[in-house]
Amino acid sequence: MKNYDIVIVGAGPVGCCIAERCATQLNWKVKLIDKRPHVAGNCYDRFHESGVMIHQYGPHYFRTNNEELLSYLTQFTEWLPGNYFVSSFSRNEYFHFPINLVTLAQFFKKEKLSPEEGKAMLEEVREKIENPKNSEEFVLSRVGREMYEAFYLGYTLKQWDMHPRDLSPSVCGRIPVRFNEDCRYVDHIFQLTPKEGFTAMFTRMVTHPNIDVELGIEYHKSKHQATVIVYTGPVDEYFEYRFGKLAWRSLAFEFKHVEQERIQPNVQINYPNDFDYTRTVEIKHVTQQDHPHTVISYEYPKTEGDPYYPIPTENNHALYLKYKELADEETAKNHVYFCGRLAEYKYFNTDEVLENALRTFEMIRKNHGHQ
Ligand code: UDP
Repeated sequence: MKNYDIVIVGAGPVGCCIAERCATQLNWKVKLIDKRPHVAGNCYDRFHESGVMIHQYGPHYFRTNNEELLSYLTQFTEWLPGNYFVSSFSRNEYFHFPINLVTLAQFFKKEKLSPEEGKAMLEEVREKIENPKNSEEFVLSRVGREMYEAFYLGYTLKQWDMHPRDLSPSVCGRIPVRFNEDCRYVDHIFQLTPKEGFTAMFTRMVTHPNIDVELGIEYHKSKHQATVIVYTGPVDEYFEYRFGKLAWRSLAFEFKHVEQERIQPNVQINYPNDFDYTRTVEIKHVTQQDHPHTVISYEYPKTEGDPYYPIPTENNHALYLKYKELADEETAKNHVYFCGRLAEYKYFNTDEVLENALRTFEMIRKNHGHQ
């Protein structure tokens, strides 16, 4: 085997970003491997048989407040505005979601609301829970029982197969409540999507004479050796499940090709209380592709399958911490760096995971940059 300065396991956002940094900033020879037949990890997008671009592993709505990160990525892509609008179908009506003044007026059958009226309304219906200890308490303390039951309870049960009272506040805490008429899904300053897609962006990132990419292969500790290793796979798998398996929530996607330009009014519709799927996604609203047909996907949460979401309960976190201790030792002793959603058992958005990758690269540069 050729001599590499670094072997990177996993060609998702973290792997691609660290590979690019090591190749261009340290002039290292990089080996980047992935067991899947493509780069970009779960950000992978591709053309469906119909020619319509899809997000194979669920929608990725890129957003960030970090201008530096954005200018780093701009080396590898042009951008389109992020058209991220979500509605929730409940009580036989479509509502803007997250909850804002428009949602509140529609839900409580009022005329247009001012921010003060919206606040007063929620103050009346919300439950006075000082320090919410779980997702149920979190939502009740913000919007009260009626909207909790209309928008959150059913969705969360379907998504996690767990009651919101058994999940950390951070799960439903991802969703803002707004006292304005901003109908976008998220609040970030920059909401953009790569013009030619994520796969094209990450492919450009790793197209460099110092980087060897090998896809469709498993990682073997004895075979893939280098002074520094970055591991982005599941941390429990790395340690051969020594303390038992970490729990993950998985997803199945069903894609349906439709011979018309658009099938739904915005990119995502959530179904908290109907059907077995949680949401339908027509990513064409985001990719802005010019095509006479469209494709929508139905998302079915499940237990078995590829790991998507770490399940944030106290027990799972405690188990992760035991693995983290092993991981820290492995970093100190054998220069194996653990980074990313699977390796850190934490649900990161794409911008957050890229920030992590850049931080991990700085650590590698500091510890081994002189080699
Ligand atoms: N959620 C909900 N109702 C919704 C959308 C989300 O109750 O209509 C809850 C659900 O528990 C979900 C969490 O909020 O897992 C985070 O939602 P988000 O849309 O951020 O999840 P993602 O798009 O990352 O899967």
